[in-house]
Amino acid sequence: MRYYSLNRQSPDVDFREATIRGQAPDKGLYFPERVPKLAASFFEQMGQMSKEEVAYEIMQPYIGNTIDTGTLKKIVAETINFPFPLVPVNEQIDSLELFHGPTLAFKDVGARFMSRCLGYFSRNQDKKTTVLVATSGDTGGAVANGFLGVDGVEVIILYPSGKVSQVQELQLTTCGQNITALEVKGSFDDCQAMVKDAFMDADLQQYLQLTSANSINVARWLPQQLYYFFALQQWTDKENFPVISVPSGNFGNICAGLLARYSGLPIPTFIAACNVNDTISAFLTTGIHTPKETISTVSNAMDVGNPSNLIRIIELFKIAGVPVKNILQSVTVTDAETIDCISSVYDKYGYLLDPHGAVAYHALEKCTGPDQKGIMLETAHPVKFPDTVKKAIGKEPQVPDVIQPLFQLQKQAINISPSFSVLKEWLLSR
Ligand SMILES: *Cc1c(COP(=O)(O)O)cnc(C)c1O
Repeated sequence: MRYYSLNRQSPDVDFREATIRGQAPDKGLYFPERVPKLAASFFEQMGQMSKEEVAYEIMQPYIGNTIDTGTLKKIVAETINFPFPLVPVNEQIDSLELFHGPTLAFKDVGARFMSRCLGYFSRNQDKKTTVLVATSGDTGGAVANGFLGVDGVEVIILYPSGKVSQVQELQLTTCGQNITALEVKGSFDDCQAMVKDAFMDADLQQYLQLTSANSINVARWLPQQLYYFFALQQWTDKENFPVISVPSGNFGNICAGLLARYSGLPIPTFIAACNVNDTISAFLTTGIHTPKETISTVSNAMDVGNPSNLIRIIELFKIAGVPVKNILQSVTVTDAETIDCISSVYDKYGYLLDPHGAVAYHALEKCTGPDQKGIMLETAHPVKFPDTVKKAIGKEPQVPDVIQPLFQLQKQAINISPSFSVLKEWLLSR
């Protein structure tokens, strides 16, 4: 499989080079030259296959011969070594719980896959690879956890000061070893812009082998397709396939879902569930994408005013030749609606949503008629957002045992102003 740059000013590359580079030299995002079509028999058998078998089948064509069969099987198995249960909330809505990984958010899958691929590609190399990543909340922890102790790879995480939750901050600032956290006095978009500038900088490129672990990196983006296959593996009603509502920020996850659909996965419609950072709504109505300033919300991992992956969604619809509006809807959900939703779903069904899942749930409820069933992606554990949960249900969520030890650790972060030149100086002076 080759990957082309969406700016079309750089040469095509294989999966290895796309992973190492992150972004193409012309600033474009990499995109697969073709989307593998799965046979109808695959979908019939999927229910009987293990999730490892399904995952390997889906990922293999995208990796091609850049990783041998045995290694890829091992990487895939390690990536998904926790459950992805589809849990009924009520008659109409199921929750696909994607928070059972080590950092309790769905980003573990992409981060685990990418870290293992990059570790494999970096073996026997003289030069260290430096992963530079901006986080709006959950990416930082997932990437820190995924890359911790990976030889030949150093990770630098930029996060917006005061805009991530306590658990999120502890997860990304307490690893030590090859992981460094930079606390930026600015927004997530500032962090993302600094990272993008770093990739464009000739001096940095010369001194450091820089790559990105944001969902612009194909090794993080592509494995997110697997959630949608795992959802349908557990779906029993073959006459009535579900609408899927995806809480969206940078649009990596939903774009991976659309890719799975283009491969043949029978999902009629996707809902891009957004908080008030909803540039996609305007895009779906007018066809024009205008980035906006980020607004802070209670679903902070979705506070993105200029989503990187929108460009991939546009490309996908172009090659598929279908109108976007037939498949993709968007719904904007306010903070008040989000908190209300956590509260009412907990009262009515005893199911505790996190703020991101609540955005997806509210959007799904708004879009579906009485006969339509739907799945919402529950992308993070509610314990990552105790303040909002407390506002909604009057008490904080129970802290799962796996993260208890986190509270004993000391935050370690370097303060930095939201300026690329400051970042550059710091990177070069170490
Ligand atoms: C990152 C994140 C999202 C948004 O995912 P995108 O791929 O950026 O659209 C939603 N929910 C949670 C909990 C997240 O961490």
